[in-house]
Amino acid sequence: MKVDRLEEMLRTIDVEARATAFLTGRSSFAPRVMEAFEQVPRTAFVPPELIDYAYENRPLPIGRGQTISQPYIVALMTDLLEPRSNQTVLEVGTGSGYQAAILAQLVQHVYSLEIIPLLAVEAAALLARLGYSNISVKTGNGHIGWPEHAPYDGIIITAAATNLSPALLDQLKPGGRLVVPLGRPHMTQDLMLIEKDIGGKLHSRKILDVAFVPMMDEDHDSSITHG
Ligand code: SAH
Repeated sequence: MKVDRLEEMLRTIDVEARATAFLTGRSSFAPRVMEAFEQVPRTAFVPPELIDYAYENRPLPIGRGQTISQPYIVALMTDLLEPRSNQTVLEVGTGSGYQAAILAQLVQHVYSLEIIPLLAVEAAALLARLGYSNISVKTGNGHIGWPEHAPYDGIIITAAATNLSPALLDQLKPGGRLVVPLGRPHMTQDLMLIEKDIGGKLHSRKILDVAFVPMMDEDHDSSITHG
C-alpha cells in the first residue's frame, strides 16, 4: 500500500515534469534524482496525523507556520542543481529535513541551515535516526550562510528570498549552481537558477512561478550545531 503510494508520487512527478517542460527546459528528471525519491520515506518527515497524505504531490504543514515542500518542486529544484556524488551542497531552510535527505542520497555532504532552533534540532534528530551521516544541520541564518565549509558546489534555498546576500553568493564555487525562489513572500515567486561561471560571473534564469514561505531576516541564535 505504502509502496503503491510512493510509486504514484513518482509517476505524478514524471507527469508534472513533462507538463512543465516548456518552462523548465527539462521533460524528465535525472534517473538518480528519481531514485533518491524512491529511497527516502516522505512519511517520516510529515506530522503523524498527516501520514496518509505523505505521498501526495502537495506541500504539508510541519508546525511553526512552516511547510514541507511539494514533491514535484523538491524534485525540480534537486534536478536543477545537477548534483554529483563528489559534491557538497548548502541548503537554506532545513524545515522537516526531507530535501536534505534527498540531496544526501546524491552528493557527498549536505550542510543545512534552519533559523528556527527547534526545527533544526528535530530535523537533525530525525536524520540521525534514519541513519544519515552525511548531513550537518545547524541553527543559523541563511543570509549569513555557513562560511566554514564553503565554497559549495550547489546552494539550494527553500524559502522565498527577496534578495541574495553577497555573503551567501560568495559561498558558491565558480562553476556552481544556486536554486532559489526569488520574490516577495505571500505571493508567487520566481524560481531562479543562478550559475556562477568559472570567472565568477553570475548568470540567472527564471524557471517557474512558485509559492514558498518567507525567508526570515532575524538572526536567531546561530551558534548551535547538531549532527
Ligand atoms: N526544505 C524544507 C522545507 C522548507 S520550509 C523541507 O524539505 O521540509 C522553509 C524553511 O526555511 C522553514 O523551516 C523556515 O523556518 C526556514 N527559514 C526561513 N528563513 C530562514 C533563514 N533566513 N535562514 C535559514 N532558514 C530559514
